[in-house]
Amino acid sequence: MTNPLLADWTGQFELPPFEAIQDAHFEEAMDAALDEARANVDAIVAQDEVPTFANTIEALEEADALLGKVAGVFYNLAGADATEAREALQRDFSPKLAAYSSDILMNEGLFERVEALWNARDDLDLTEEQARLLMLTRRRFVRSGAQLEGADRDRFRDIMERLAVLGTQFTQNLLADERGWHMELSEDDLAALPEFLVDAARSAGDEKGIGAPVITLSRSLITPFLASSPKRELRQRAYEAYVARGATGGKTDNRAIAAEILRLREERAKLLGYESFAAYKLETEMAGSPDRVRDLLIEVWTPARAAAEADAEVLERMLMADGFDGPLEPWDWHFYSEKRRKEEHDLDEAEVKPYLQLDRMIEAAFDTAGKLFGLEFEPLDGPGYHPDVRMWNVTRNGDHLAVFMGDYFARGSKRSGAWCSAMRSQKKLGGETQPIVVNVCNFAKPEAGKPALLSYDDARTLFHEFGHALHQMLSDVTYESISGTSVARDFVELPSQLYEHWLEVPEVLAEYATHAETGEPMPKDLLDRLLGAATYNMGFATVEYVASAMVDLEFHSGTAPADPMQKQAEVLEELGMPRAIRMRHATPHFAHVFSGDGYSSGYYSYMWSEVMDADAFEAFLEAGSAFDAATAKALEDNILSRGGSVEAEDLYKAFRGKMPQVEALLKGRGLIAAE
Ligand SMILES: [Zn+2]
Repeated sequence: MTNPLLADWTGQFELPPFEAIQDAHFEEAMDAALDEARANVDAIVAQDEVPTFANTIEALEEADALLGKVAGVFYNLAGADATEAREALQRDFSPKLAAYSSDILMNEGLFERVEALWNARDDLDLTEEQARLLMLTRRRFVRSGAQLEGADRDRFRDIMERLAVLGTQFTQNLLADERGWHMELSEDDLAALPEFLVDAARSAGDEKGIGAPVITLSRSLITPFLASSPKRELRQRAYEAYVARGATGGKTDNRAIAAEILRLREERAKLLGYESFAAYKLETEMAGSPDRVRDLLIEVWTPARAAAEADAEVLERMLMADGFDGPLEPWDWHFYSEKRRKEEHDLDEAEVKPYLQLDRMIEAAFDTAGKLFGLEFEPLDGPGYHPDVRMWNVTRNGDHLAVFMGDYFARGSKRSGAWCSAMRSQKKLGGETQPIVVNVCNFAKPEAGKPALLSYDDARTLFHEFGHALHQMLSDVTYESISGTSVARDFVELPSQLYEHWLEVPEVLAEYATHAETGEPMPKDLLDRLLGAATYNMGFATVEYVASAMVDLEFHSGTAPADPMQKQAEVLEELGMPRAIRMRHATPHFAHVFSGDGYSSGYYSYMWSEVMDADAFEAFLEAGSAFDAATAKALEDNILSRGGSVEAEDLYKAFRGKMPQVEALLKGRGLIAAE
């Protein structure tokens, strides 16, 4: 049997042959890819040639090409379409990959070559991109313990392997808890719910084979349920199940895992000579230090909490007017906030939804990219990795630029949330390589024959993830490791959050928000009300986010807490958390922070990027149009095409002249008055 993962992919756009790939192929392919990568690295070290940029840094870039190819397919499937077999493989692969990565980064002969190049860097006649890659490569070695010796070296390696295992366990526990809970609804319970939610609940019940409508812990079901069910005890039950994910006391409990992860991270940072894990982590970010992050969060927290507390008083009066006892509880917030939205802004989610068809919103995102960057999207046939996956050929002036895949619907096998990943990244070394970019979302799947309808939040998520996709698709660099979204964590949300602004450009909704049944465009009055309510409930959204970001930062900026849940409570107490608002992600299900290192002491990044996105969109408005061609070109030339080939702050300044202040964000969120 030939293993399709190890063969050359010769089909259209060299896409992975999804139909031929079976779960049984992954283990052999992963082992072969790891062996090949190790052999390539050994050859770099064993050669007699003196180190050159080409025979060391470029050779290292290419060493794990096969591994990248196999892992690109596997990890996409593991996140978007998990099965028990794939979960078992993931448990098997994660320590193997961690061991490989640590073998490379702790390889003394290899580091010697990198260090020799680093010391001779001024005489190597490197391009700007090569100099950057050399600096980043060396820094990665140093930060991964290449300079450690003896027992410290061994301990460091053990810590990294253990962290990889714990991160996978955390994720799988969460998925198990999300899958393991549902609440059946009676016909009476359905009576007050909007039609789209009734449909989605029936469809979720069918998928689970229950034969009754259910609410699951998928955000696309639970959020509208909390916003629309007048039955307070059902809301409480659903809400409590939602916030209990990862803390249900059984085999899937994540609390002890979180404590161990924090302890090991602190030890790792101290071995490398940093004061704390946050100090280590933030060294490579735009923010640079925990103090700068804390300053930003506090600056935003104070006006946000004031806004949220004022809202809470109004909502509590509404609760009591309905004959319930106070105080306002977290499971009341969405319901009364939605009710108030209808009263004050005359805006009903259920009235908006028929105008936000998934297909039309995809067209809107594509058309915006066409107007800004000249991109065109042509549907591709052929199997994706799941029947729900759609594919497009992305071109500009007739030239193939990328394959874009959209995997939009929620299913039990998909982890929650929404994300963008590159199954293959753009690069030029070793031949021009065009990316394969995937957007994965969790929108409620409609019943057969009905169009998929989005909430306004869903539509924003679609634009957000598509902004990440553009960052990958427009990438134009030589080296894969600095391509696309391989940038500082607190810079990576700039392209995605910036793209959300085009959903708020009135012409876009005027054209693409058409009614699912009548085809009529959204009435002007509804459009005005929708856009006018954009900052509604922003105190709540900001408070739940900043609380999570602050807990994440404090977890990592001092001694690791023995009891993270107690530490979480202390941080919230000190902030003065409003009683009817909880963290957006509490510790036992805070996947950003515990599933891997990605967003650990980095959850603040979204807000750091938002300071820039608010200011960057202003550049278009100052130029007189949201589609100003010169500004779009400057955005592509200075940011979207550059990946991590230049320091993020320099990229931003090249686009905009200077770094922005926090005021643009506060105004954008309606937390201070606009001028
Ligand atoms: Zn994002």
